[in-house]
Amino acid sequence: MRIYTIGGYEEVGKNMTAIELKDDVFLFDCGLFLPPIVELEESEKIYNEKKLRSIGAVPNDLILDSLGLREKVRAILPSHAHLDHIGAIPYIAQRYNAEIIGTPFTIEVLKTLLKDEKIELKNRLKSIQPNSSTFIQGKSRKYQVDFINITHSTIQTAMIALHTEEGIVLYCNDFKLDNNPILGQKPNYEKLHEVAKEGVKVLILDSLYSGDERKTASEKVARALLEEVMLTTQNKGQGMIVTTFSSHIARLKSITDFGKELNRKIVFLGRSLNKYVSSASRIDMCPFKNDIQMAIYKNQLEKELKKINKEREKYLIVCTGHQGEPGSILDRLSKSKLPFQFQNHDNIIFSSSVIPTPVNIENRAKLDSRLKKHGVRLFNNVHVSGHAGREDLRDFVTMMQPENIIPAHGDLEKTRPMVELAKELGYKDNKNIFLMRDGGRLEING
Ligand SMILES: [Zn+2]
Repeated sequence: MRIYTIGGYEEVGKNMTAIELKDDVFLFDCGLFLPPIVELEESEKIYNEKKLRSIGAVPNDLILDSLGLREKVRAILPSHAHLDHIGAIPYIAQRYNAEIIGTPFTIEVLKTLLKDEKIELKNRLKSIQPNSSTFIQGKSRKYQVDFINITHSTIQTAMIALHTEEGIVLYCNDFKLDNNPILGQKPNYEKLHEVAKEGVKVLILDSLYSGDERKTASEKVARALLEEVMLTTQNKGQGMIVTTFSSHIARLKSITDFGKELNRKIVFLGRSLNKYVSSASRIDMCPFKNDIQMAIYKNQLEKELKKINKEREKYLIVCTGHQGEPGSILDRLSKSKLPFQFQNHDNIIFSSSVIPTPVNIENRAKLDSRLKKHGVRLFNNVHVSGHAGREDLRDFVTMMQPENIIPAHGDLEKTRPMVELAKELGYKDNKNIFLMRDGGRLEING
């Protein structure tokens, strides 16, 4: 087989990997690289394939055309609902005569993206439950594909096992090993053992934190951190705002649970939260949907904020903007562009960490300094990551015993420590562990 590491190997974003097996090609993920989009001026925010290619925001899959492989693509297989894994589908999937197969939440979020951008794809969208399998018709044979439930920072994330004549390709981008997820199921270790027994030819592995000597804590730890801040600090009579990732449904559940304990009315602000929460509701994975109120559009938002401004002690605001994104709700609140004025000691809880790109770091520093001028209390980093640490990766590789490993999900600085770890486990650089770049090509012999 041949493997093309199209995107996500020199940056955190625009993930895409192609597997070529004689007459058939499969694509794992089709994501966006967000920083160049965040940097666009408001007037330039017109998204189409040409524009997004010109700023390097989508994977450079044109290499498949030059190799004559575009017509051989049989399926696009997104692993989960994060934009760096599905965000480019609306713009480039129509280049392929291929179905798109993902878990129900992934497909629901994708449908919402398509609706928002008024794009109709001709590709068939197919939902497959976590922990089930499907078959994809190739030119002259069928391929079994398993979507194995795994834990991450959004629900219904899958590890994808593609069964080939040369062995299994296991795509593990992104994951952590969380035995106590707040929402959704535990990693399916039983199935993973089965796959390991059958034989993993190639493991494509989320190595973002392979250099971090730790075990990534469970989501239950993030819940405990939130509980500490929300329930054991003095906040009577004060405003309370929590900002987190809109796709992190489990986290939103914890925030909502503690908001209820505080007897506060819970209001979710903005379109982004609505997008993910309504997708989760549609697949019946939003247990808090009756406990929250949504304010989505400008009028609703302003009306709600005017009410909250008068009786802030009775409300919990949940909104986006933890990366300091210009135009986000928290950004606009901090610039007094919305009808809500901060008061001394209002609580702002960041249930997030800064995604370390220069543009995020700068935006966030500016946001914090504006917020501090309002005299508010900031609670940073009330969060645990959704990506496996070095010691999780050691356990995972030991469990799966893959023949070959391809570290993924980041630039070489992020992924290189995985090579060192693999060497500790008996692998040899460039023999059975391969550090790849964007646009790379690797031949694995049967
Ligand atoms: Zn992810």
